[in-house]
Amino acid sequence: MEKAIDYRSDTVTRPTPGMLAAIQNAPVGDDVFGEDPSINELESKTASYFGFEAGLYCPSGTMTNQIAIKCHTQPGDEVICDVNSHIYQYEGGGIAFNSGASVKLIEGDRGRITAKQVANAIQPDDVHRAHTSLVSLENTANRGGGSCYQLTEIESIRNVCGENDLILHLDGARVWNAIVAQKEDPKEYARLFHSASVCLSKSLGCPVGSVLLGDRSFIKKARRIRKVFGGGMRQAGYLAAAGIYALEHHIERLSEDHTHAQLLASAIQECSFVKFLLPVETNIIIFELIDGRSAPELVAELKTQQVLAYAIAPNRVRLVTHLDISREMIETTIKAFRSLQ
Ligand SMILES: *Cc1c(COP(=O)(O)O)cnc(C)c1O
Repeated sequence: MEKAIDYRSDTVTRPTPGMLAAIQNAPVGDDVFGEDPSINELESKTASYFGFEAGLYCPSGTMTNQIAIKCHTQPGDEVICDVNSHIYQYEGGGIAFNSGASVKLIEGDRGRITAKQVANAIQPDDVHRAHTSLVSLENTANRGGGSCYQLTEIESIRNVCGENDLILHLDGARVWNAIVAQKEDPKEYARLFHSASVCLSKSLGCPVGSVLLGDRSFIKKARRIRKVFGGGMRQAGYLAAAGIYALEHHIERLSEDHTHAQLLASAIQECSFVKFLLPVETNIIIFELIDGRSAPELVAELKTQQVLAYAIAPNRVRLVTHLDISREMIETTIKAFRSLQ
């Protein structure tokens, strides 16, 4: 399907010529010995972008989240998160599998939970109860349609965490999109979160990789767990070089993806088979179909027009804009949607 316009995820991007050149020219070494200059540079660059002390390069966002949860919890602890969060929905039950912890699920607003909900979800200090130790927020929220938190709400959540001795983790797979859309100062993140997981392989267009961020002692512990999880890589500086390139070249351009998503969303909204669209804040479009229409069928129809989308529920379809989607492709896609009326 080389000709197809692929909106299934922002993970489908291919490295640009500039990124490929950076990969080819990367200085490398054995990272398990701490000797890969490109990985060391990526870790410190990412950490200082967000104002954290240190970073740890990992193969995936699942691994960075799971290492963080493992570091922050003991077996039997409870993790507070939104019911639609990636750590709960899409990491293979890893919270239980890797950390022996349980979850307290909150019904948030498009993936975002409030300080009040967090406060209400904390277990009382009672031998019958699980011990609440961690709160995890997702920004942007994937199943929330790329919705963004207000920093003031995160501040309130952090205060609740402070008062109750809880750790606050950020699943920031697409935090770059939130920063660009909300014109935030990335350095606010280190102030509000104990740790953060950020993906390079999503909206930043890298082939592989995520970075876990936190203070030095947390990252030291995380490095040990990464090895246990099988994530210690060797000359992975070739991959980290793509990350360095992306930090320098692919953050500001995200506003283009957001504009593309807006354009496409307004056209989709007009289609007779669409019941409603979630508000589009960043690069994700999620819409629900009118009764009687099925998402997998619509996805199949779109595919015959060379447009690839993803059925995230029996009646919900998701499209994600990214680096490899041009304005021209958006126009073609709008025509394809209109032809399906
Ligand atoms: C994609 C994603 C991850 C990590 O996914 P990997 O495919 O393991 O890199 C984590 N959280 C969110 C919200 C995501 O969208």
